[in-house]
Amino acid sequence: MPFLPITKEEAGGSLDFIVVSADAYVDHPSFGHAIISRLIEREGFSVGVIAQPQTDEDYRRLGTPRVAFLVSGGVVDSMVNNYTVAKIRRTTDVYSEGGRYGKRPDRVVTVYTRALKRLFPSVPVAIGGIEASLRRFAHYDYWADRVMPSVLVDSGADLLMYGMGERPMLDILSLVKKGVPFASIRDVRGTCYLSKYSDLSAKTKEIFSENARFCPSFEEVVADKVKYAKAFRLQSENSDYVTGCHVVQKHGERYVVQNPPQRPLTTEEMDEVYALPFMRAPHPSYTEGVPAIKEVKYSIASVRGCFGECSYCALTYHQGRRVQNRSKESILREAQSFTRDPEFKGYIHDVGGPTADFYGDACDKQRKCGVCKDRKCIGFKPCPNLKVHHEEYLDVLRSLRAIPGIKKVFVRSGVRFDYIMYDADTTFFRELVEHHVSGQLKVAPEHCSDRVLAKMNKPSFEVYRKFRARYEDINRSLGKEQYLVPYFISSHPGSTLEDAIELAVYLKSIHSVPEQVQDFYPTPSTRSTCMYYTGLDPDDLTPVYVPRTREEKREQRALLQYGKPENYDLVHAALVKAGRTDLIGNGPACLIRPRRVSAPASRDRDRDKKIHPVNRLYRGVKKKK
Ligand code: SF4
Ligand code: SF4
Repeated sequence: MPFLPITKEEAGGSLDFIVVSADAYVDHPSFGHAIISRLIEREGFSVGVIAQPQTDEDYRRLGTPRVAFLVSGGVVDSMVNNYTVAKIRRTTDVYSEGGRYGKRPDRVVTVYTRALKRLFPSVPVAIGGIEASLRRFAHYDYWADRVMPSVLVDSGADLLMYGMGERPMLDILSLVKKGVPFASIRDVRGTCYLSKYSDLSAKTKEIFSENARFCPSFEEVVADKVKYAKAFRLQSENSDYVTGCHVVQKHGERYVVQNPPQRPLTTEEMDEVYALPFMRAPHPSYTEGVPAIKEVKYSIASVRGCFGECSYCALTYHQGRRVQNRSKESILREAQSFTRDPEFKGYIHDVGGPTADFYGDACDKQRKCGVCKDRKCIGFKPCPNLKVHHEEYLDVLRSLRAIPGIKKVFVRSGVRFDYIMYDADTTFFRELVEHHVSGQLKVAPEHCSDRVLAKMNKPSFEVYRKFRARYEDINRSLGKEQYLVPYFISSHPGSTLEDAIELAVYLKSIHSVPEQVQDFYPTPSTRSTCMYYTGLDPDDLTPVYVPRTREEKREQRALLQYGKPENYDLVHAALVKAGRTDLIGNGPACLIRPRRVSAPASRDRDRDKKIHPVNRLYRGVKKKK
């Protein structure tokens, strides 16, 4: 099966759809543009791909599509991809040819859509992917440091697909097959659009007056942080297929209308998606390759969605709380296909998804009743209804290990250490350590202060301590020397200087100075970003402390790497400021040593040089008479 056309010659005439991608064209199921284009092809439509267009000629490369352009903003929001948390431009882009940056403009969905609307004014444009999805309502944009309107307003797109795109795409394609003009498609679940009230259908006007949920308007959330937090909560509460309603937010005289969420894919549908005829490689026109393929080429996505709901993570909001999994047979088929690849060395890099060991529903009731709006499945404390089960995932891993030609199966996606600890049966943990860890297991306790962890919706730190102890026990009993690499976030909302010091003291107690520390990054539409912007917890509108100044953020970060010489001044200043000078000294619990007596002034040093070294020792010592 060849790659999809990228030129008019390859297309051989007009195409039904043209997918415009912010990532390089990689025909692999880890890339949204690949899944959507292969799905369109399977449904009998013609489709081509324009990747990372820069000039008008690039946009015109495949001519005018008969049905629509589909813009995919890429695997990562373009601002996150282009800038560090310090708002400094990154120098590489793993989703571009040769890993070079500069192929993807800032706010790429808006840039591409505007260009398409200028060049092809009569052709509908639909947008999707994580950037469009997480910016579908008015949202705080960290880089502009202001609340921006829905991306529908800025871009001029006709339709927005939010969440995972397969189901809305299939519903749209079935309407197009029936002859419904793309521009008139309004009622598909998992989509949003912008409309004046007078242009709404009679059915939607009825929904408006009956059960739609109205968020505070764009203008209101710009002016009032309490309203922003309320809008965020209302949007989050309506992100489940079973219970989600229409959500509406006024922008000026127009309304952003969000249809209810799509239903999650069934296991059979997931299997079908991953069985599409992907080339599993970057387009051959990229002579330098695309670095992102390296990690995913021999990795298997087994699940989607996450009921973890960590406050700083956008995945729950994008993929949903319902975990969808592939069947064991489908996963094994993919692994067997690796063994026929001459480049495959026998190592599967990963079998997972957002959270590798969430392989199925969180509880028995969520399929029928939806996920709870007022309760978390797992977090600071697990829900009593949470089903803890690793048997099915373990069965998949065991079967993968048994395939001839497979030497090792690693699990590199995150595992939830708290979920592992809630499992009374330790078989999974033991086999994970024995067979699926490559020398070090990375986990994400993220902090050690329970106050901060509660804001992150992470478990109490005591759970991590127990996990660490058990990990060490298992390694010892297996005779293995493997490490645990904990990830921590500095300056998350809720974290005071005292909390950062508590974390530094903990790190000192385990003799650890993390190589890398992640500063909290307020990416669009996370609960933590809402806290960062508003200073309020959207759950109950209580105030949340937010480390905001550059100085405090640097201090909190430096504390986590207290042992690095370049951080000495910042750590010293933070400890003095917090009244914790007891941690400055030579004792074993101290974070830093006292300042050295300053070196002699340069004039003295010069004078020193002229004194013989032996005499220098005696300088200032009076000769005995
Ligand atoms: S467990 Fe992982 S994927 Fe799930 S919400 Fe937390 S960070 Fe995101
Ligand atoms: S009952 Fe518990 S586990 Fe089930 S959806 Fe609600 S919070 Fe999640």
